[in-house]
Amino acid sequence: MAIKIEKKIKGYNVVKPEDKAASPAAPAAQPAASKEAPKAEIIQMHESLERPETLVGSTYKIKSPLFEHALYVTVNDIVLNVGTAYEQRRPFEIFINSKNMDHFQWIVALTRIISAVFRKGGDVTFLVEEMKAVFDPRGGYFKAGGIYMPSIVAEIGAVIEQHMKSIGLIHDPEMDESTRKLIAEKRAAYEAAANGKSAAPVSTESKTESATGFPPGATLCAKCNTQALVLMDGCQTCLNCGYSKCG
Ligand SMILES: [Zn+2]
Repeated sequence: MAIKIEKKIKGYNVVKPEDKAASPAAPAAQPAASKEAPKAEIIQMHESLERPETLVGSTYKIKSPLFEHALYVTVNDIVLNVGTAYEQRRPFEIFINSKNMDHFQWIVALTRIISAVFRKGGDVTFLVEEMKAVFDPRGGYFKAGGIYMPSIVAEIGAVIEQHMKSIGLIHDPEMDESTRKLIAEKRAAYEAAANGKSAAPVSTESKTESATGFPPGATLCAKCNTQALVLMDGCQTCLNCGYSKCG
């Protein structure tokens, strides 16, 4: 029988005879199975999962000095196993929009490939690290908070990371109490030295702070990409993540 295809073909799978037999939808395999108690199926992300008519998502704005106009990054999610203990929200597709058409070609290619990776399933969080490691040979730029962005691709990666954190796919490693205490102590000591006082409390930091929240003159930390590295006792120390060149 000839089947007329009226829609665009977006993907295909070759159905093997063993797939047909294994598929619960195949009517031939049904009669024997129907006697057994119905089992709950946990739906995992896979590439032939059909896109529902409506998806939930978020749009993020990126303003970069490398771009004339803002970029709007939309990540849409699919919610799997709704209402069960296995409910899971996963990114399904990404779109990037801008008035600026200069970069249209690679942006379209990038979003299509990322969307395809999302739909493949499995662990998709590796995309974040891959993208954040992209350096623009013309140089990066600083964002509010003193965070260095090595390229526009890295910033798109940071947006995906932020999104994955918001839906619970990536968990922020908690900074332990002793590290936090150590940073606070180092910071207090640095500010005390900068103010020329013997023991300035932490709360008097506002005067020496720049817009980034770290002392003016702080340099870029290679570990956390934040402008928070200060020289203390002849040793470069980061007041954001606690990194120290002298260990
Ligand atoms: Zn750092």
